[in-house]
Amino acid sequence: MNYQFPLERLSAYQTPFYYYDLDLLTQTLDCITKEASRYGNFHVHYAVKANVNPRVLSLIAQKNFGADCVSGGEIEAVLKAGFPANKIVFAGVGKSDKEIRLGLRTGIACFNVESVPELEVINQLAQRQHCIANVAFRINPNVGAHTHANITTGLAENKFGISMNDMDKVIDMALQMKNIKFTGLHFHIGSQILVMDDFIALCQRINELQDKLEARGIHLENINVGGGLGIDYKQPDKNLIPDFATYFATYAEHLNLRKGQELHFELGRSVVGQCGALISRVLYVKQGTNKQFAILDAGFTDLIRPALYHAHHLIENLSSDAPKKRYDVVGPICESTDVFDKNVKLNETKRGDIIAIRSAGAYGEIMASQYNCRKLPKGYLF
Ligand SMILES: *Cc1c(COP(=O)(O)O)cnc(C)c1O
Repeated sequence: MNYQFPLERLSAYQTPFYYYDLDLLTQTLDCITKEASRYGNFHVHYAVKANVNPRVLSLIAQKNFGADCVSGGEIEAVLKAGFPANKIVFAGVGKSDKEIRLGLRTGIACFNVESVPELEVINQLAQRQHCIANVAFRINPNVGAHTHANITTGLAENKFGISMNDMDKVIDMALQMKNIKFTGLHFHIGSQILVMDDFIALCQRINELQDKLEARGIHLENINVGGGLGIDYKQPDKNLIPDFATYFATYAEHLNLRKGQELHFELGRSVVGQCGALISRVLYVKQGTNKQFAILDAGFTDLIRPALYHAHHLIENLSSDAPKKRYDVVGPICESTDVFDKNVKLNETKRGDIIAIRSAGAYGEIMASQYNCRKLPKGYLF
């Protein structure tokens, strides 16, 4: 499979904007469904924070995925897009009362609870609304992921989750609460993980925890292992669809599921990352002392990942076949960190050329800002 840009159609739109390849998204979703359904008890949720473009969301809903939300706004967006409430899970360290009430009122499947005070508030609010809240605890497995420090979430001192030492205590508390139903455990160790060893380490940790709980007579209905599978930012065309077969097989092999137990996944980046590109025009090519700058009409307000995480995205000039030259590719924002990448090889570039910044479907459009009074980028699918 190859990623083909419909250049003529793209040229008709005002840049910068996001373009999503609907075929690739469809094929990616179908691949996930096929690979997960080899195992009867695997359930995949889409981690909504990666991209909430309404058409992207409704396609994912049509393909029968669940949704993993981290705010009330996301719950509203996925309900509107057609996800059934009983396939929504709700995570996050700081759920407000209003957001919890929304989750209770709409009947979401599960709150992934990250602290004792949160558990107490959910119990109180559920009592007032005369309902029972399904609850899983997000446990911090102290498994380090081989990824950028800013996107690891599973280490011991981290704002996310409940420490393993406190697990027994919080479960005992939940079992005493009248308006709480304890259903299982939740984990999420980080993002952009390409080494299966990290997921294997998570499986081993979950096996230990589950053995301990079983010895105390506690049974888990479901286990949620979060997301985190990475994508190929360097050579997207070689790996447009991530290796979901190996990913699911890793869990099937290493996690000891009990009879009747469900295994839930929350995949974000690996679902939508490769189908999107940020499309921009070259405003100026500027000769520096020792280098050339390609100055784009897109900046970190449109795609913040390079400035925020030192993330690398492949950059291509879609309108030039001329021999390659080297450029620092930068945006127009008044900040020195507004650089997409340095020393990039691009086909010789001139004012007006169309530039694609690849693999921008996840954590791109949704993280855009209006700094410098800029307009938010639009997203188009075709
Ligand atoms: C962000 C997040 C995910 C998705 O992570 P990806 O790396 O995009 O797959 C899943 N679960 C939780 C709780 C998250 O916060």
